Amino acid sequence: MPLIVQKYGGTSVGTAERIRNVVARRIARRADAGDQLVAVVSAMGDTTDELIALARQMTGDPEPRELDLLLSTGEIVSAALVSLALNDMGYPAVALSGAQAGIRTDTRHGKARIAGLDPKRIRSELDAGKIVIVAGFQGITEEMEVTTLGRGASDTTAVALAAALKAGRAEIYTDVEGIYTADPRLVPEARKLNEISYEEMLELASYGAKVMHPRAVELGAVYRVPIYVASSFSEAPGTLIHGDTATGGRGMEQRNKVMGIAQDTDVARITIRGVPDRPGIAATLFEPLGENGISVDTIVQNASVERLTDLTFTVSRSDLERALEIVRPIAQQIEAPQVLADTHLAKVSIVGAGMTSGPGYAGRMFRALFEARINIELITTSEIRITCLIDEKQVPDAVRALHKAFALAAE
Ligand code: ADP
Ligand code: ASP
Ligand code: MG
Repeated sequence: MPLIVQKYGGTSVGTAERIRNVVARRIARRADAGDQLVAVVSAMGDTTDELIALARQMTGDPEPRELDLLLSTGEIVSAALVSLALNDMGYPAVALSGAQAGIRTDTRHGKARIAGLDPKRIRSELDAGKIVIVAGFQGITEEMEVTTLGRGASDTTAVALAAALKAGRAEIYTDVEGIYTADPRLVPEARKLNEISYEEMLELASYGAKVMHPRAVELGAVYRVPIYVASSFSEAPGTLIHGDTATGGRGMEQRNKVMGIAQDTDVARITIRGVPDRPGIAATLFEPLGENGISVDTIVQNASVERLTDLTFTVSRSDLERALEIVRPIAQQIEAPQVLADTHLAKVSIVGAGMTSGPGYAGRMFRALFEARINIELITTSEIRITCLIDEKQVPDAVRALHKAFALAAE
């Protein structure tokens, strides 16, 4: 009997009515077709944001442990409700928290990583003929502390379960019909892709396309789990994220085309002025950031003038305060006179396999932004991506201009 792992996002389980009439019905239909089913669910609607706001009414600085315990309840509510609805419809189901589902994590509250997954309980429930509903986004440490896996990480729960259970694929049901060439809410003429490679999707997700959690895509690539992304609310065919797209689903000669555009406003910039230009300084600065779980993205070091240089890098906005707490004393230690921070920048990225091996992509990107009167503050690239940091307010214009410049609307 084929085993399928599905995931339903926050909008899909947003109301009691949707849980019954959309999610439970979809699951029941698959069960009727003879599949064994594990369904991962997100918290209802904006529940996670609301729980965070509640915590902040208690304290400006909630303890990460207590916050995780609080946030984990959002997904548990949805899982129990979906299971209740299915049982009521005559489909035997059981809801499990992340801990009950055997999802073990490390101890990093708020961004825990899955350390191991023991699907014993899930298997025995499936063997007993049950549909298993799992609360996404959470796990448990060896010390039995509840953790969460990071915002948007119910996707990661689903792909991890699909890998551990050796399911044929993970199906992600959301509020859009698949992966588009840009966020369809920003670019109405964006085109839905039939398929996309893990590499390209990982790059889009890591640079802001929140339709998939980046770590879910990474797990899919490592364990070779194809991920199908489609709408909870329609029967339209979705997008398959997989590894066999030698041509990225495009014609032989179009391999180098730009596949999609992503934007990310979760950017904070830190500049350290007057850094002495000598070996070891970069390590002194960046090692403690890494040790504290802060990932640094773009790093730019200016050419030094009189053995002094400026060092600029970006972190996510939620990490800014902690990053400054680490950087300021170090700056003092190395006698750099000034540390500046701002949060008005955002990233826009173009992504496409083989892109940087083709000529002219960077030039075309810069020209399109220039013609839209958008100033580029920083630039970073990878094999398959070019990212420009621009003013946050200009993001919608930038994404639309790039979508047009690379002719990504319907072909
Ligand atoms: P869920 O609650 O189902 O996990 P999310 O809100 O996390 O849903 O992700 C879906 C949203 O991702 C869409 O509503 C869309 O606005 C956004 N999105 C951003 N980039 C893209 C893209 N390239 N293709 C499709 N959706 C995108
Ligand atoms: N509910 C969590 C969030 O809002 C996880 C998820 O939806 O994937 O981030
Ligand atoms: Mg999501």
